[in-house]
Amino acid sequence: MQTPLDQQPRAALGFFPTPLTELARLSRYMGGPRILMKRDDQTGLALGGNKTRKLEYLVGAALAEGCDSLITGGAAQSNHCRQTAAAAAASGLACHLVLGGAAPEMPDGNLLLDQLLGAQIHWSGDLRKGERIPEIAEQLRAAGRKPYIVPYGGSNAVGALGYANAATELKQQLDEQNIQIDRMLFASSSGGTQAGLIVGAHQSALNCEVVGIAIDKDEASDGPYPEHLCQLANETAALLGIDQRFDPSAVFLQDQFTGEGYGVVGDLERRAVKLLATQEGVLLDPVYTGRAMGGLLQLIDQGIFAKDETLLFWHTGGAPALFPYASSLITTGH
Ligand SMILES: *Cc1c(COP(=O)(O)O)cnc(C)c1O
Repeated sequence: MQTPLDQQPRAALGFFPTPLTELARLSRYMGGPRILMKRDDQTGLALGGNKTRKLEYLVGAALAEGCDSLITGGAAQSNHCRQTAAAAAASGLACHLVLGGAAPEMPDGNLLLDQLLGAQIHWSGDLRKGERIPEIAEQLRAAGRKPYIVPYGGSNAVGALGYANAATELKQQLDEQNIQIDRMLFASSSGGTQAGLIVGAHQSALNCEVVGIAIDKDEASDGPYPEHLCQLANETAALLGIDQRFDPSAVFLQDQFTGEGYGVVGDLERRAVKLLATQEGVLLDPVYTGRAMGGLLQLIDQGIFAKDETLLFWHTGGAPALFPYASSLITTGH
């Protein structure tokens, strides 16, 4: 049966379903609860990550509109920008990235990959959230190009469809293995992942709490983050023709783990990166999954979860950023 989701234009960019695995050694080390991991670091597009799911729908829309280039923005080590550069290359589109900071002498991590993938980079100093995208888009139009604007983090209703779909994919895997999860947890930053999961978990009756772990401190410019998530979930539902409207009671957000701010690695992140590597052979990233897993471990320490609960952690990717963060991951004296 065709669902409204099946009718949305979609470019095939990744390998799905991603694996669903059990973190038995980590769970034993922590003394419970049961922890599963959904491996969206293995989406397959140029080292993978969660943006691949959003980009399947965003690039689908770009191609349907006859656009010839993608333009997006983010931090210099943005996983989103790297996956957008790969999506553009795989779809025969040009790619323009508006990145915070200034050109380093030698690119590393995601930035190195952006360049290998053929993206054209526009450095924009203090602005790391794609603030200059409209300006660059206007220049491209003036030059006769047809750019498609991929929003910051790929997080609009079209991008969030990727995670509405991911929830359905997960539901099928859980049903096949006869598993019921109590909560899913993941890093939440620009909101498309959380908004899509809220809609998808509702639609596929996952019956679990959808818990974002905030990565950024709430920045007043675009309003409180929970309200933004609620609005994005409702726009996504509307795009799918779903009657359900979500209110702030559907938004679960743990916002006490933002530490010294975006991209600043502390003990919380170091512990998580090290523990997952040594207990499970799983590589997290310093900025998103390291912080989110660090938060999850701290919540377990605090006894927030019952020992017989089943948790699911979405590994949203990001490992290419391990390399440029080497000096904050390996501390002297340890
Ligand atoms: C972008 C990103 C996130 C956050 O997802 P949002 O949809 O922006 O909230 C989490 N983890 C990684 C590795 C990311 O690159």
